[in-house]
Amino acid sequence: MAKIRYFDYAATTAVKEEVVKEMIPYFTESYGNASSIYSLGRKNKKAIEDAREKVARALGADSKEIYFTGCGSESDNLAIKGVVYANREKGDHIITTKIEHPAVLNTCKTLEKEGFAVTYLGVDENGKINLEELKNSITDKTILISIMFANNEIGTIQPITEIGKIAKENGIYFHTDAVQAVGNVKINVKELGIDLLSLSAHKFYGPKGVGALYVSKNVKFNKIQDGGHQERDKRAGTENVPGIVGLGKAIELAYENIDEYNAKLTKLRDLYIEQIEKKIPYVKLNGDREKRLPGNANISFRFVEGESLLLNLDMNGICASSGSACTSGSLDPSHVLLAIGLPHDMAHGSLRITFGEENTEEDVEFLVNILVGIVEKLRNMSPLYEDFVKNNG
Ligand code: PLP
Repeated sequence: MAKIRYFDYAATTAVKEEVVKEMIPYFTESYGNASSIYSLGRKNKKAIEDAREKVARALGADSKEIYFTGCGSESDNLAIKGVVYANREKGDHIITTKIEHPAVLNTCKTLEKEGFAVTYLGVDENGKINLEELKNSITDKTILISIMFANNEIGTIQPITEIGKIAKENGIYFHTDAVQAVGNVKINVKELGIDLLSLSAHKFYGPKGVGALYVSKNVKFNKIQDGGHQERDKRAGTENVPGIVGLGKAIELAYENIDEYNAKLTKLRDLYIEQIEKKIPYVKLNGDREKRLPGNANISFRFVEGESLLLNLDMNGICASSGSACTSGSLDPSHVLLAIGLPHDMAHGSLRITFGEENTEEDVEFLVNILVGIVEKLRNMSPLYEDFVKNNG
């Protein structure tokens, strides 16, 4: 079997050994319920509070502003529903974008069924929102702006500071889904004017099934799940102590050397893009060339099906993605690629490569060489490509 080469860090990451090491005692020796008053419980409560401190430090927040959840999707649900249910007397209008993750889009769709009004902002060909359009969408009923920090498919980073400013000037809460950004870029919630921020541990070498939500002290929000009084009565359910400890360690490690990590990924990404654009004709980089996540390269290959690319890459031990992991397997073209104006055939021919910790320049070289061969083979089987060559060659 071919050696596995992983280029899908936006889908998930392996848990770092140091993180696993910190988690293990909480599965076995220190298994107490964090709500119990005996020392076995109190020790775990302390471990949760230490992890909360680490998350707060990484984001420039206060630890009282951090709530642990079960995943990034839950953080998005809690942020959006939590704010709009608590502020309904002020208004019923939400502004978001057409390129959000389903955790935000489907939450907004559910809220529309409950009588809330939602504006879905479009984006330009690079995936950026228009700030004037955002300003013009605000009404006296707008209570929440939810705009993602960075897109999971095309990597485009939104103008977060400017959005934060517009939200503040209009007295509207600003939530950002930063699941793809945390651990990849520096974030200071106070400087950026963010009121609520979602994150998920498995995107930055922490465990799956644990997330967090930052909620500024000034925000009025409700719990959305009934049960016990955990997480200061905002998120019921016995705490996932090993998971929370793992999240805390992972975020601490991620921000210890963020500049170095960011530079390493940017270099690999730019090398890959440069090589593909040089060696394969009829390709298009999706997303903003400059303002994008350091490890993300999403490229459409004309006259090629993304699914066929993935299968052929898999035969060579390469893990990658066409669109997001949550939507691959569906035959519909990605909503993000359609929103940036790609025609259906180009949207179907997209390949998302996301770099991370283990990747090297040798991996990039290997990947590019394999892709050159696969794309050539697939194009030679394509009647569309044959016609194109006949008419243009
Ligand atoms: N938001 C974005 C932008 C994501 O990329 C993801 C996961 O891919 C999520 C939310 C959901 O996170 P989780 O898998 O932890 O539910």
